[in-house]
Amino acid sequence: MTRVWRVVVGGANSPLQRMHLAFLFVAAWVGAFSGMFNVILSLSPPLYGLLLEGFALTVLWMWYRSRWRADAERMAWWFCLLIIFVMMPVNWLFNQGMSGPTLMFFLMAAAYSLGVIPAHGWRRWLVLAGFLIMPALMILLESYHPSWIAAYPSATQQAADLIFSYYLNVAILMVMVSGHIRRVESERRLSRDYAARLREQARRDSLTGLLNHAAFHETAEAELAGDKPDLALLIYDLDHFKQVNDNYGHPYGDQALLHFAALLGEIARQYDAIVGRCGGEEFCVLMPRASQALLEAFDRQLRERCRLQPLAHGEIHFSGGGALAPEKGSVTLWFELADRALYSAKRAGRRRLVVSDDLLILSR
Ligand code: GH3
Ligand code: MG
Ligand code: MG
Repeated sequence: MTRVWRVVVGGANSPLQRMHLAFLFVAAWVGAFSGMFNVILSLSPPLYGLLLEGFALTVLWMWYRSRWRADAERMAWWFCLLIIFVMMPVNWLFNQGMSGPTLMFFLMAAAYSLGVIPAHGWRRWLVLAGFLIMPALMILLESYHPSWIAAYPSATQQAADLIFSYYLNVAILMVMVSGHIRRVESERRLSRDYAARLREQARRDSLTGLLNHAAFHETAEAELAGDKPDLALLIYDLDHFKQVNDNYGHPYGDQALLHFAALLGEIARQYDAIVGRCGGEEFCVLMPRASQALLEAFDRQLRERCRLQPLAHGEIHFSGGGALAPEKGSVTLWFELADRALYSAKRAGRRRLVVSDDLLILSR
């Protein structure tokens, strides 16, 4: 059963299309079985049985085109026309009009059609008009020409037909409703994923994938407020990077930034540290359980990695400023202290780390 179901609905991409396929598949079998059922129980003339079998074959072909020939949209449209303007009137005439199950099927077909036909344009209006006008027309015809409609041979047969049709309609309704529910769920899931992706993208620097300036600040603020002990901040700025760009071109400069970001990220992971790109060639590190000695060890390790993995222009050089988290004071002060330390490192000849004395005093 599962296998059959997979053949019916599998491969199609949207829940709406799956609902369409399932509906067509069920409609084809309903047509085929009711054709046989009507003839065997002599509920209606053999011609009606033949018409139903023809309908079943046509719908099966439509299902095939939708399922295997990527023609679902056109087939949905043709199927709507077929049921509204051919099958329902035929059914009405042969299947005992208002005393038969046609009106039930009509409503079910309307629910399907209004779900699959595009929301705009003349097709929708034609389908809507068909569902509004055709049943009324049939009822009027029947009241003026009752002799045109075949009557049930017996009350038992009418009861059997109505009960059988009712359960068929319930089955069709379940197929449709579950299709619509799945559609709503998948759209909700898609928009949720999309929003999450956008939110994450907005936090990331597009070149390196590291946290961007705003996200890093936010994180630092949260960590500082979280009362974690011995947090430290490092700001790294590449030395004479403008020259690298000038001599090797901007795309090369980008590659150098990527390379540095990768090495920094790799070492930061060993220290459970969080890394961000806080400016053009400026990177920030938030380190837990830090001390001046740990900051120096981190810095030494990073410089060693850059020495071992030089680029075409040579080794990447950088200066760093470090600051332990102030016990009192804001993130702004913390960044200011690290920035001041970085400035000292630049002034002292670059290629070094300076850890802010101020903060050491403050953190005491
Ligand atoms: P210093 O040692 O004083 O930091 O010198 P510097 O040349 O690194 O500093 P400066 O601030 O004068 O120049 C920074 C350069 O970084 C300028 C800019 O071309 C480059 N830069 C900033 N962002 C990017 C980027 O995304 N890609 C590339 N390729 N270069 C960038
Ligand atoms: Mg800079
Ligand atoms: Mg620089």
